[in-house]
Amino acid sequence: MNFKIKNLKFEFMNTILHIDMNSFFASVEQQANPKLRGKPIGVTGGDRETRTVLCTASYEAKKMGVKTGMQIWEAKKICPDLIIIQSNHDKYLSVTTKFLNIFKDYTDKLEVFSIDEAFLEVTSPVIARSPWQPWQSHTTKDCFVVNTPRNDIMIAQEIKQRLKDEIGECITCSIGISYNKLMAKLAGSLKKPDGLVIIPDQKEAIKVLDKIELDDICGIGPATKKRLFNMGITDFRTLRKVPKSCLVSSFKSYGEILYNMARGIDHSPIKTFFEKDEVKSIGHRLTIDHDTSDLLEIKQILLKLCELVGNRLRAKKLSAKTIHCWYRNALSSSVIPAKAGIQNAWIPGQARDDKINFTGNNMQITILPTSDGLQIFKTAWEIFQSIWNEDKIRMIGISVSNLKPDYFATLSLLPETRKQETMQKAIDKINNKYGDFTLQRAVLLKSTPIKRTPNPFLSDRRFKI
Ligand SMILES: [Mg+2]
Repeated sequence: MNFKIKNLKFEFMNTILHIDMNSFFASVEQQANPKLRGKPIGVTGGDRETRTVLCTASYEAKKMGVKTGMQIWEAKKICPDLIIIQSNHDKYLSVTTKFLNIFKDYTDKLEVFSIDEAFLEVTSPVIARSPWQPWQSHTTKDCFVVNTPRNDIMIAQEIKQRLKDEIGECITCSIGISYNKLMAKLAGSLKKPDGLVIIPDQKEAIKVLDKIELDDICGIGPATKKRLFNMGITDFRTLRKVPKSCLVSSFKSYGEILYNMARGIDHSPIKTFFEKDEVKSIGHRLTIDHDTSDLLEIKQILLKLCELVGNRLRAKKLSAKTIHCWYRNALSSSVIPAKAGIQNAWIPGQARDDKINFTGNNMQITILPTSDGLQIFKTAWEIFQSIWNEDKIRMIGISVSNLKPDYFATLSLLPETRKQETMQKAIDKINNKYGDFTLQRAVLLKSTPIKRTPNPFLSDRRFKI
């Protein structure tokens, strides 16, 4: 949309804002409890202080070198004053609803990306020129900033202020503004906390891409980075020199995405809440509070995880065809530096290669569609027995995919099966009302308690905003 007023030319285009809340869980906790403000805190996913990892850390803790994903003993070693808080997802979800309601005031094109991130599409007068008043601009270290009264910048600044006024002074966010989602997300990651960075066009995007690591961009993880490294591609400048056909032959359809990424191109549209893809997989995992090779204990935990998965499948009226089971081995202290690179993880400011590479194994099997926890367990147990190396394990997980609407499940007219289905419905009704495992199989009595928490990507939770 363009128009002219005398010699002044306005050009309008849609721009994308990526808004990422800073240290979200920790900020919400600090907002709720003034005694925690200004202190290093870490929020854990589990209800234990040991053998669980940090979901997030406050900026005070991050300054000391504490990182998301660190185990508590590691974090406390580098930050002995770290205050550990048990996560409360209902509290975080209520804040998410509040900030989404603020965002909704500016656009109806809003994509909820995760519990603390969203994309907004807004219309802005991005270029306004006249012969007698050239619009000034300057280049900062990270990006190009246009000094015009852009609608998107004003919206970004107003949102930042409203978050503080309407939710709380501890709630800050980093905002990236750009011409597509990929570049907006990258811009938002360049300055934290409380940043506002603009990548106005493709020319500036390429300058930014040439300064960052391959895995600084959303969509390139450690595995893709490693494959690219093996091909001699260590940065975006080199990636741009590789022909599209070569990338496609190595990465199939993802090759074209990589080709575009290196040029700051991304055609993915904003997916509003109601256009979001339906859930593609459902899973649960548990970090056990001790290392174990006790088969009965592992069996009980796996059955519980499968029952949870079955319950969620039935709630969505879905059946699963593919069952995926995996575990992680216990780490002995002598193995940690050699295999996990934990020493590197302690270096403050290090951007990447801070993930701990636990050993383990996984496998998936395709079966007839089912939503029955016991049926899923039977397959998962078969997988576990075939992949387990008999070492002690610290974590076990199950996920199901290849989901179909329930009517694809094999229908049975056998009286025994019908009886099972009726019983399952009654059990679901009671457990959904009074809590998971209120009614459970006798074999699960005295088993490890498992608490269900929503995942941060809200994959199976439809937001009411
Ligand atoms: Mg965040």
